[in-house]
Amino acid sequence: MKNLVLFRKNLRIWDNPALFNACEDGTILPVYLHDDNSLNRPLGAASKYWLHHALKSLDNDLNNTMVFESGNLLKSLKNLVEKFTINNVYIDKSYTPDEIDLDIKIESMLFDMGVETKSFNCSLLWEPKNILKSDESPYKVFTPFYKRGCLNSSVPLKPIGKPNEIKFIEHNLSGNLESLHLLDKYNWFSKFDKHWEISEEGANQRFYNFLNSKINRYKIDRDFPYKDSNSKLSPYLRFGMISVNKMWHELLTIPKNSGVLHYMSELGWREFSYYLLFHFPFISTKNFQKKFNDFNWINNEDQINSWKHGLTGFPIIDAAMKELWETGFMHNRMRMVVASFLVKNLLVDWKIGEAWFWDCLVDADPASNIAGWQWAAGTGADAAPYFRIFNPILQGEKFDPDGLYTTHYIPELKNLPTKHLQKPWEYNWGLEYISPIVDYKFSRQRALLAYQEIK
Ligand code: FAD
Repeated sequence: MKNLVLFRKNLRIWDNPALFNACEDGTILPVYLHDDNSLNRPLGAASKYWLHHALKSLDNDLNNTMVFESGNLLKSLKNLVEKFTINNVYIDKSYTPDEIDLDIKIESMLFDMGVETKSFNCSLLWEPKNILKSDESPYKVFTPFYKRGCLNSSVPLKPIGKPNEIKFIEHNLSGNLESLHLLDKYNWFSKFDKHWEISEEGANQRFYNFLNSKINRYKIDRDFPYKDSNSKLSPYLRFGMISVNKMWHELLTIPKNSGVLHYMSELGWREFSYYLLFHFPFISTKNFQKKFNDFNWINNEDQINSWKHGLTGFPIIDAAMKELWETGFMHNRMRMVVASFLVKNLLVDWKIGEAWFWDCLVDADPASNIAGWQWAAGTGADAAPYFRIFNPILQGEKFDPDGLYTTHYIPELKNLPTKHLQKPWEYNWGLEYISPIVDYKFSRQRALLAYQEIK
């Protein structure tokens, strides 16, 4: 059989059921087709940076045999199938609304051509359609979803390793990775290079290093951004450079202390994000809780720009936004703090923050980003209650007690005594930091009133 493997969100060799089964069944043509218009939303700039390197690494692992093309995805696929008289197209199954729509188009086009589409779950531990409440409706709250739904259902599929043998269909197509133009001409992204080893091997090294040296303290340390105690595997999971099934089964083999169990439940949050988007596709652009549709967001442009560029005057917020800018990543607690600040203290629509993250995060994920923002805004399914407004001063003092994280990203604050670090406006230290763009107490009160109206 001649099989085309269409790589999309699972850029790996190990435990990749689409690739594995295609190789068992014949010779393969590994393909990546880039089409900014095939989905509702083009990738953000940081994601494109990541994708470029992930594809480079995958191509290298596949003996530089990959076919790269940009332009209309369906047209390119049709041409390749005809040119190489392909029998089957192997794809990774989709779970987000626009990707599902695209799969239907692909399948129907190939069907008309007499070619079979073989689709495999390469991305999730559990099929969202199989996890339902006893009344057959989808869960809306995380804990019962995870404990009653996922953990009580069948164990995720065992990893299948890498293909025993890969036989490639020979080709001399000229399109190369550079022709996809994923990297901007202006090299703003070189600052990311030192933070990431973007390869399947890099993903595995990071995972096993985390298992060997960090996971046991994960539950205790995970909230402190200066500790580097989390796995930082999110961009690798986003682009499928490591198999979540493989991770899950590795976790099943080690003693279940609180760190391990907590880590597994975080993978559960990832599942939950995809699950919500699968069952409630409208949440990618609309509030899960419809009562928020009439919410009176202020959306002040100057304040939004100050937030984006880490110039709010609140050191912990500014440090976190600078972490994002410098590394393409932001620590989970910091994501919650900056999102709460934007949505509640500045009364900015969560979609504006979500779009900024989409552009700047190397792990920008269509499901987790939406779920994270709707959670923070209180508009989501299992969301933060309206009265939960993170106090950036207290959050900074509690989770960055010695100011290591804050001063790493804002070195000019190093001379400020630690106990004044999160509120420099209260201390006369001979220098000045940006004045806060909003009075915290006033903005908290204003948010409570606005949210109470909706409630
Ligand atoms: P670890 O703590 O090591 O957790 C392991 C893995 O579990 C992560 O890699 C991730 O895949 C998953 N995970 C952990 N926490 C969550 C969570 N709350 N929701 C979903 N999955 C989770 N995550 C993304 O992958 N992409 C996003 O675009 C994204 N946007 C977010 C936006 C906001 C406003 C918030 C509050 C959270 C967002 N998250 C997003 C979730 C979370 O912040 C990141 O997954 C996490 O910080 C990644 O770091 P890590 O790999 O070190 O996580």
